[in-house]
Amino acid sequence: SKNTGRDCVTVFDAQMGIEIAARECLDRALRTAINQREFTLHYQPRLDLKSGKIIGAEGLVRWDRPGRGLVYPAEFIEVCEENGLIDEIGAQVFEMGCAQAIAWHKQGVDLELSLNVSPRQFADNGFIEALAALAAQHDFPKGKIELELTENALIGDPKKLAKKLRQITTMGYKIAIDDFGTGYSNLSYITQFPLTCIKIDRSFIQQLPSSGPIVQLILTLGRQIGATVVSEGVETVDHLDWLSERDCDEVQGFLITKPLPLPEFEAFAAGFSVD
Ligand code: C2E
Ligand code: CA
Ligand code: CA
Ligand code: CA
Repeated sequence: SKNTGRDCVTVFDAQMGIEIAARECLDRALRTAINQREFTLHYQPRLDLKSGKIIGAEGLVRWDRPGRGLVYPAEFIEVCEENGLIDEIGAQVFEMGCAQAIAWHKQGVDLELSLNVSPRQFADNGFIEALAALAAQHDFPKGKIELELTENALIGDPKKLAKKLRQITTMGYKIAIDDFGTGYSNLSYITQFPLTCIKIDRSFIQQLPSSGPIVQLILTLGRQIGATVVSEGVETVDHLDWLSERDCDEVQGFLITKPLPLPEFEAFAAGFSVD
């Protein structure tokens, strides 16, 4: 109640005030960031274990905030899921990603690019239209672009979801399940949806070898449905060896490299070889 210590109430109010002000400030800065196009992509290589080559990258958004340097998604993606700005940011991420895929195509550079799609962005009715518009505008192999959806984006009417996903794959884009094994959906969607790739969440890789039975299960599952299996968060040679011995298709992680700005990524991919 209000009578239990005036100081405490004052402190509480002040704290709340600060939080609300900080949040409003962040919202405003994000709106400016959208208008000024302050977002950029970093690229984390995907290493194909069979060929030993970098066959593509995951594009990860960064906010190049004037006067503050690079801001990482942990600081703004969740907020933007709440205030709805994720739709705009996601659209810009897609424009940037497609532009890059087209540039590589024109240069004769053979690289795939996967892009993250937030659940809210995927649920948005304009999403399919935006993808279709991009597909119609530009002549480039859509199969080089993969959308990474988390299991949380796949909760809902399976029939409707399957239809939406099929619309996407019919346009030629590929679909990956991101952070596999950590979401709230049930497993039945795996055989109902047109999935081209499963990305094992890094929490399972980091717990190897004790999480081995789970990782092995996902590898088998991926093979059964004809999907590529990518292990995320590969940080050590032990992780890599464990996964190579079990024919995991691709790995991504700090052992290969952290996400890089475009020029660094291109140089890294071109010069990479396994020894
Ligand atoms: P994610 O999609 O699971 O992306 C992988 C994250 O793990 C990246 O963090 C990456 O830097 C980090 N990572 C890569 N290798 C390792 C490793 O070996 N060890 C560890 N500990 N971490 C590793 P980042 O770039 O900070 O992104 C964080 C999350 O933000 C992403 O997780 C994704 O959920 C979200 N995100 C990033 N870009 C976008 C975007 O364009 N749109 C949307 N909706 N979400 C995005
Ligand atoms: Ca991802
Ligand atoms: Ca992931
Ligand atoms: Ca993850």
